[in-house]
Amino acid sequence: MKKIIIAIDGFSSTGKSTVAKQLAKKLGYVYVDTGAMYRAVTLYAMQQNLISEKYFYTEELINSLAEIQLEFHFNAEKGFAEIYLNGTNVENDIRTLNVSQFVSAIAAVPEVRKMQVKQQHELGKKKGIVMDGRDIGTVVFPQAELKIFMTASAETRAKRRFDELLAKGEKVTFEEVIQNIEERDNIDSSREDSPLKKAEDAIVIDNSNLNPEEQFQKILQLAEEKIQA
Ligand code: C5P
Repeated sequence: MKKIIIAIDGFSSTGKSTVAKQLAKKLGYVYVDTGAMYRAVTLYAMQQNLISEKYFYTEELINSLAEIQLEFHFNAEKGFAEIYLNGTNVENDIRTLNVSQFVSAIAAVPEVRKMQVKQQHELGKKKGIVMDGRDIGTVVFPQAELKIFMTASAETRAKRRFDELLAKGEKVTFEEVIQNIEERDNIDSSREDSPLKKAEDAIVIDNSNLNPEEQFQKILQLAEEKIQA
């Protein structure tokens, strides 16, 4: 059967990764979470004291990019690939609010994006891939057969992220979470290199009022139509 590339872009915490994972599982495709890649670079920068509330040593980060090795390894128990930073599984460490606070600044650096996009092209070479992010349908795979652009109200998204962080035992307030989401959307949409925007041929899914199953079925149907076309 024909294999396609499915690009899922959209604002923060719109449930992109949940639906992307479900789709990949159902279709037997590889799922790539590109947000995890930018988060892992951010974690590296934090570990090396290259970024904090007070400073961001951009040049130093650019100079050390060659030392950052990112890999995905499939975790059969969880049913998706987890991200490794220089040989260490950082899947949990990259999901903190602390990393979220710095990731958009890191992701705005063109050299960082160049390195990530190169690896993303490699990962998608054989097609049969579901990739989620901010610039997949516009920059990484403008030729993707199916492009989805996901959105939902800021409150719905913040509530989702807040519940996720609480479940993990993080001590955060709802205000901190909504502020971070709005700030990231703002930086991601206004940066010069590969800003978050809907590709002209992307299908918009506003999931404020869709439950996860309805959303999954809707996108699955679109994917099957493209695969059979
Ligand atoms: O998807 P997630 O919320 O984990 O992404 C974290 C951040 O990584 C985003 O807020 C954005 O700054 C950056 N990102 C990006 N391009 C992508 C994926 C993520 O700039 N393709």
